[in-house]
Amino acid sequence: MKYVLVTGGVVSGLGKGVTASSIGVVLKACGLRVTSIKIDPYLNTDAGTMSPFEHGEVFVLDDGGEVDLDLGNYERFLDVTLTKDNNITTGKIFQSVIEKERKGDYLGKTVQVVPHITDAIKDWIESVSAIPVDGKDGPADVCVIELGGTVGDIESMPFIEALRQLSFSVGQDNFCLVHVSLIPVLGVVGEQKTKPTQHSVRELRALGLTPHLLACRSAQPLLENTKEKLSQFCHVPAANILNIHDVPNIWHVPLLLRNQNAHDAILNQLNLLSIAMPPALQDWTMMAETYDNLTNSVRIAMVGKYVGLTDSYLSVVKALLHACIACSLKPSIDWIAASDLEEDSAKSTPEAHAAAWETLKNAACILVPGGFGDRGVRGMILAAKYARENSIPYLGICLGMQIAVIEFARSVLGLERADSSEFDTDTPNPVVIFMPEGSRTHMGSTMRLGSRRTLFQTPDCITAKLYGNTQYVEERHRHRYEVNPEVIEVLEEKGLKFVGKDETGKRMEILELPTHPFYVGVQFHPEFKSRPRRPSALFLGFILAATGQLEAHLKSHQNGV
Ligand code: GLN
Repeated sequence: MKYVLVTGGVVSGLGKGVTASSIGVVLKACGLRVTSIKIDPYLNTDAGTMSPFEHGEVFVLDDGGEVDLDLGNYERFLDVTLTKDNNITTGKIFQSVIEKERKGDYLGKTVQVVPHITDAIKDWIESVSAIPVDGKDGPADVCVIELGGTVGDIESMPFIEALRQLSFSVGQDNFCLVHVSLIPVLGVVGEQKTKPTQHSVRELRALGLTPHLLACRSAQPLLENTKEKLSQFCHVPAANILNIHDVPNIWHVPLLLRNQNAHDAILNQLNLLSIAMPPALQDWTMMAETYDNLTNSVRIAMVGKYVGLTDSYLSVVKALLHACIACSLKPSIDWIAASDLEEDSAKSTPEAHAAAWETLKNAACILVPGGFGDRGVRGMILAAKYARENSIPYLGICLGMQIAVIEFARSVLGLERADSSEFDTDTPNPVVIFMPEGSRTHMGSTMRLGSRRTLFQTPDCITAKLYGNTQYVEERHRHRYEVNPEVIEVLEEKGLKFVGKDETGKRMEILELPTHPFYVGVQFHPEFKSRPRRPSALFLGFILAATGQLEAHLKSHQNGV
C-alpha cells in the first residue's frame, strides 16, 4: 500500500478535504485505484452526536456509519463506497485500546499513548486501507489519508507520531506527505506572505515529518518569487509547490493540480511513474466547465432548521447541484428558516415572516430536508401545505416526509392534533411514531441507520419510473420515527399513497400524491448516494418537475430513449 498523507497548517478551514479528495481524483485519473481515510482528532467516537450547527452535516454511509462530511466529498469525488472505519477519531482509538486493557490483553503492562495508542492508530490505518471501496476485489493502490485539524494541535499529536512511525516502517517509496497551507496577502502593497507556512513546516519537521509537496491556498495565483522563497525556506523543490488559488467551483481543484503536474510529483515520490498513465480528466473538465457556463437557474426553497450554516445540508446541496447540471440549470437555493414561516413570527419578527413567505412563493419547488427536534416544525408543515395546495413540486426527505404526513392528516383527515410522537408525546393522533428496529428499551443505537431496501408497491408511480422501473432501491437511512402503520389505510383512502415500503411492508419508505404534479416524501436520504455524473433519480425528478419537464422525461424514459 502506498500512502499520501494530507496535513494542514496555519489555519483550519483551508479546504484540506477538497485538496485531499482532488489528489485522489487525479491519481484515479492516472489509472490507479484509490481509497481514503479521514482522521478526526476529536474525542467523539463518531459524528452522530455532533450538532450540524457546529460541525455541518452528519454524513451517513452504507454500513450505517455516521461520519464527518468530508467522507461525503471522498465518496462523491472518487465514486467509492466507504465504511465507518474509514473515519478514525480519537474516541474510536481510545475506546479500542481501553477495551483491550479491560480484557487484560496488555498482560499487566502500563498502557500508554506511545506505544499503545500509536500502535492502534497504525494498525487501524493499515487494515482499513486494505478494504476495497470501488467494487473491485483486492486493496487499492493508494490510500489518501487526511489528518483533520492543524499541525501542532494537542489532540492530533498521537496521530502525528503514529504517522511518523508509519512513514518510517512503510519506507520512503510508499509515503508522500502533502502539507496544505495558507499564503495570506497583507497591506496595501499586497505582498504574499510565506512566513506562516515556513512556521508550520518547521513545526511538522520538529515532529519528525517532512513534507514532499506543499499545497498553498491563496486568493490570487502565487508569484514566482513567493514560490522560490517557499522552496528555499521550506526545503521543498519548486516543482513540488502547488498553488490552489480561488476557483469558480471546487471541481476545478483536480484540474488545477493536474495543470501543475501534481500527479508527477506524487507518483515520483511513490515510485509509481512507470505504471501510471497520463491523467484522463476530459469528463471532469467538461463537468467543471459546464457548471461555470450555466446561465438559466431554478429557484429552490429549502425550508429547514439549520439554514444558518449551509454545510448542515451539504449533501442535499450537492445532490441538487448534480440534478440541476443534468438539466443544464444552475441551482439557486433560497434558504428559509422554517420558524420564520410560523404564525408566531408574524408578531415577533414581521419582516422576517413576510420575507420568508415571499421567498417561498417565488420558488419553483420546495424541499424540506431531514432534521431532529421540534424547532421550525410548524413552519415546515405550512410549507408542505402550501406546496400541496398550490401544485408546487415538493420533496420531503426523512423529517420532510413525516411533515407531509402530519400536514395531510391535519388538513385532509381533519385530525387537528395529528403529530409525530417525537414532537408531542400526548398527541391523540400519532401519525408518526417511534419504531425501533431493535430493542425499545436498550439505550443508544435506536436509530435506523445505513442502507435499507425499499420495495416499490406499484410500477405506476413517479418514483418507480424515475428509478428506472426497478423492483427495489437501496438508499441510506438515519431516523428513529416512522409513519404509523395503523394510519396507512385512512391516509391512502384520502389519496396519499405509500408507493415504497420495506420488506416487511410495515415501514413506509416513499409517499406520493398522485393528484399532484410532484409531491414526494421519502423516509431515506437519497442525497447521500448522488454523484456528480449520476444524479439521484429523485432529485432529478424534482428539478424536472420544477421546470415543467418531468412528464416528457418520464415518457422518453418509458420508451427507452
Ligand atoms: N427526527 C426524525 C426521526 O428521527 C427525522 C430524522 C431525519 O430527518 N434524519 O425520525
